[in-house]
Amino acid sequence: MRMGAKSRPALATVAAHMTRIFSGIQPTGQKHLGNYIGAIRHYVTDQDLGEAFYCVVDLHSISVAYDRDTLAENTLDTAATLLAAGLEPDRCTLFVQSHVPAHSEGAWLLGSVAAFGELSRMTQFKDKGEGRESVSVDLFTYPVLMAADILLYDTDRVPVGDDQRQHLELARNIAQRFNSRYGDTLRLPEAAIPSTGGRVMDLQEPTRKMSTTGGTAQGTVLVVDPPEVVAKKVRSAVTDSGREVRRGEGKEGIANLIGILAVATDRTPEQVEAAYDGQGYGQFKGDVADAVVEWLRPLRERYLELRSDESELRAVLARGAEQAQAVAAPTLAEMRHRMGFR
Ligand code: ATP
Ligand code: MG
Repeated sequence: MRMGAKSRPALATVAAHMTRIFSGIQPTGQKHLGNYIGAIRHYVTDQDLGEAFYCVVDLHSISVAYDRDTLAENTLDTAATLLAAGLEPDRCTLFVQSHVPAHSEGAWLLGSVAAFGELSRMTQFKDKGEGRESVSVDLFTYPVLMAADILLYDTDRVPVGDDQRQHLELARNIAQRFNSRYGDTLRLPEAAIPSTGGRVMDLQEPTRKMSTTGGTAQGTVLVVDPPEVVAKKVRSAVTDSGREVRRGEGKEGIANLIGILAVATDRTPEQVEAAYDGQGYGQFKGDVADAVVEWLRPLRERYLELRSDESELRAVLARGAEQAQAVAAPTLAEMRHRMGFR
């Protein structure tokens, strides 16, 4: 009998399995409107699509300079943000990456089928490494750990922002290569990237994506910013010297606000453009500010409540780690076996 792999049926025999959803988010400080629009709100709706696993990827967050004194606190904070946005522990599994050791071991195994050349082409590595005196090996191998995160859960669907498209493609290539070398083992995941809001831009530098670690403070709306701060940041968004509330060449700032308003008020960008035909930027920006404040208000209130009871939060994450481990461990055992470890 094959040791360790007996509890996991071969992939071909689980054709009718429930859709698996997996996504990860870094605990690199408070999360922003881009995270919410591009990823988190889809985590919430995807809970109804199948069996969903959401992971606070603390191991990823050490790939750039971080503060060890706030790591645990930020991890709890990110989990609270996800729950406040609408994740429900009865409808999904929410856990912390470092609590499930299969992720780091899986990454090491997958590293043997990942190529140096393909990792060197990853734009996130180039962007985050650019201009730094020292770049960690973890920043380089980040996509391999991300592949392990996803592949350990037999994932079908990965709700992510547009910036993760390339990493998802790589995860598929790694899985394919593993399968052709060792036999059908890993399911090939699909990225689920929203058509509107897949890449929310920094409000002060609208040619760069809004980012937890790389953006401007004034151009990054945190989902838990107080209402007056949210309003101020949106009202001072950089636009252009034109007057038309339309998307187009050189209008990245306006296009970004159109996308944000569309999502916050459940309209298409075309509907927003039509609604502001002939109106000026001042009125438009004021409306975006009001809409975003109202849209985020319930999330912020719930977040403040959740932060006041850390023991409940810790209990959710402990249960989540157990559930995640129960799924990840058999996949890892199968990988080890296929690779010849005994
Ligand atoms: P960093 O810039 O330091 O990588 P981040 O803001 O990208 O941080 P992550 O935790 O890495 O935050 O990303 C969590 C999720 O949010 C991912 O699915 C990512 O694709 C998505 N995301 C991040 N930034 C944006 C953005 N500006 N617009 C849309 N989605 C985004
Ligand atoms: Mg990121």
